Amino acid sequence: MLTSLKHRIIALCIGLVVLTATGSLMGTWWSSSQFNERKTQEAISVAENVYTQYLQAKQRLLLTAASVLTSDFGFKQAVATRDAETIASVLYNHSQRIDAELMVLLDTSGNLISANRQDLQLPSDSRSVMRDLLSHEDDSTFIVIDKTLYQAIILPVKAPRTIAFTIVGFAITPAVAKDLRKVTGMEVSFVVETGTTKVSSMALPEGMGVLEYTNAKRVQRIMGTSPMYANASVALPALTDSAVSVILSADLKTDYAEFDKMVLTVVVLSLVTVLLGFLASGFLARNLTRPLQQLTQMAKAFAQGNYKAKVASTKPSSEICALMDAFHDMGENIQSREAQIRFAASHDSMTGFLNRSATLETLNIRLISEMPQYLIGVDIKGLRHINDKLGPRIGDECIVQVAERMQKHASDFNAEFARLGGDELLVVVEGKADWSIERYVTTLKLALEATYHIQGLELTLRFSIGALSAPEHGDNAEDLLRRTLIAADNAAQEGVNVYYYRKGEDEEYLARLQLIDELKQALSDNDGQLFMAYQPKLNFRTHQIDKVESLIRWRRSNGEWVSPEMFIDLAEQSGLIVELTQWVIDTVVGQIAAWQSKGIVMKAAINVSAQDIVDEGFLPHLQETLLKYKVPSKLVTIELTERDMIENETKGIAALNSLKALGAVVSLDDYGVGQTSLGRLKMLPIDELKLDKVFILKLNESHEDQCIVQSTISLGHQLGFSVVAEGVENQASLTLLREMGCDYAQGYYLSRPLPALEFEKWLGEYHEAG
Ligand code: C2E
Ligand code: MG
Ligand code: MG
Repeated sequence: MLTSLKHRIIALCIGLVVLTATGSLMGTWWSSSQFNERKTQEAISVAENVYTQYLQAKQRLLLTAASVLTSDFGFKQAVATRDAETIASVLYNHSQRIDAELMVLLDTSGNLISANRQDLQLPSDSRSVMRDLLSHEDDSTFIVIDKTLYQAIILPVKAPRTIAFTIVGFAITPAVAKDLRKVTGMEVSFVVETGTTKVSSMALPEGMGVLEYTNAKRVQRIMGTSPMYANASVALPALTDSAVSVILSADLKTDYAEFDKMVLTVVVLSLVTVLLGFLASGFLARNLTRPLQQLTQMAKAFAQGNYKAKVASTKPSSEICALMDAFHDMGENIQSREAQIRFAASHDSMTGFLNRSATLETLNIRLISEMPQYLIGVDIKGLRHINDKLGPRIGDECIVQVAERMQKHASDFNAEFARLGGDELLVVVEGKADWSIERYVTTLKLALEATYHIQGLELTLRFSIGALSAPEHGDNAEDLLRRTLIAADNAAQEGVNVYYYRKGEDEEYLARLQLIDELKQALSDNDGQLFMAYQPKLNFRTHQIDKVESLIRWRRSNGEWVSPEMFIDLAEQSGLIVELTQWVIDTVVGQIAAWQSKGIVMKAAINVSAQDIVDEGFLPHLQETLLKYKVPSKLVTIELTERDMIENETKGIAALNSLKALGAVVSLDDYGVGQTSLGRLKMLPIDELKLDKVFILKLNESHEDQCIVQSTISLGHQLGFSVVAEGVENQASLTLLREMGCDYAQGYYLSRPLPALEFEKWLGEYHEAG
């Protein structure tokens, strides 16, 4: 169970106070009772002393009195003569003089001769009593005679021999006991153990013994009752068969009262202390816990994002003050850090532009506006190249400066900026009256293309810019952003600086992306979706089919055919072409080897793209594959279109030279539809011209085509190239081409492109018919 700090402090304080109070109470109790006991014992021993002194004084008095009496000549004579009257008078006089209650004269046999009192009854065995007394010699003895207790002494009367004995004694009466009580401050009781005689300073009830009485007497105290008396018993000299003792009883009532008063005082003091402790600890706890509660509230406010929360504490301690200050500082720090984190979470650290997710949010808000919003995507061309060649720091600086220029250019607008990817920046502007997006983009482009000065370098950057407007081209941020990037991408693809998005492009783009994805998958799975078809080429000189053109086919997993022109184009755009061509080379060279092993010597032409030719891995891969399948390079022809040749002429020429050096045949595909001048044609390191099928398809019908074809063949031959005609669809065209001196013919008339096995079958049949 959770207990509050306040309660704990109070409990601790009270606990401590109670513990201390109880301790001191117990201590006081113990030491006081010890003290009281000691005091009582001391009082008793003092009383004992006093009493002994008293008895001894009395004894001396007795002895003197007895000696005086027994040495009185007149008395001795009276005793000797048994002059009763004189004896009685002397005894009476003496007893009066010394205040002795007992004065008896006995004959030597113990018989009473005379006494100071006429009615005195001696014990019946007075002779043995006398002897017992005599055994105590000069000491006094306590003796009961005629129901009265006496302190008595016996002395012989000598004349000169003992003629009688005299007993002198003081009676021990309650008055004596009371006198003694006055002296000792204690109740005094004389108890004769045989018989019922007792003399006490206390008023004992009839028939009750002293100890019985004192033990029964109890005093009511704060807690229960206690015995009223503490007793001490002292034995007195007495006759052999009649012991006498004195019991001193100390009355404890006063002590008890004092003690109880003291205990009560301590208890009251303790209670007062506990109360004070309770109040003080409550006050302390409140002082301590109130700021804590306030701090808790402050922390809760922080948790809810309210970092301005303050607490007003009255007179807090310096520690609490420091803690509260620390809390305030913490709140401010959290707030600023939260702001930083929020900024970092929504912005690009390099440019300070919004990041993608923040752009989506901002854009959705802007779309609510009535005004049209224009999105202009700016893609920095060749940034990767700059990073690779000049280092990432320069690349980063380029991005920063481009971003700055974009911001400057939009300073008059309600604009928003974003960085969507490494080299993709975006500006969103709101249209104005008398404003055109075209003009804005043109001036932006000019501003961006001005020379950059970065770390001592002068750089010119190029951009692909895509633009669109909302709500015309989309009503949600996601679509708009994607379409802007598609437009920028199209600008790059089509080699234009600015591309305005057109409706529907998004869907085409997506379809294309999906197709590229599928193609990639088909290539890596190599599950038969992609395969090669072979179209025979007739060698006019030998009338043999000694060569084929390898043409790729793709039948998608859903059974749909995709035209090679279409997916080759996609592969070129996505950079997938290099991988695709490697696959083609592998398959075709493998096929040539397979035919070789079946005794079919067949050359094969492979179509490649401009990207393949400039790819550094192309030649080594071709070489490795030829070696792997042990296929001589002369069996391979590489077909490259005029367009591909133009795209990267210098590198292309070098690559073609290497191909030739390797021993492969190089063919210029689709010749005649491009812009290859005759002068350039002369410089190209090629072996073969492949006339485009537009000149061949209707060759037999078109006089112009015949002229073009005839002159091209002649030209080709004169430049040292062999000439191939593709698209031969009828016998007439074939005959014409033969007559024109063409070297090879290829076309549906001979055969459509066929899968390897079908081609082999076709070849067999062709030879048979041959
Ligand atoms: P291309 O290299 O000019 O290929 C010749 C095209 O003409 C083939 O179309 C072929 O089927 C077609 N053809 C052949 N004879 C006739 C005919 O008598 N009449 C008609 N109308 N057409 C004929 P295909 O197979 O559709 O290939 C189209 C283009 O695709 C090829 O043009 C080539 O540029 C490209 N291509 C095909 N396979 C590959 C390949 O493996 N790699 C690369 N890079 N490109 C390829
Ligand atoms: Mg071709
Ligand atoms: Mg062609």
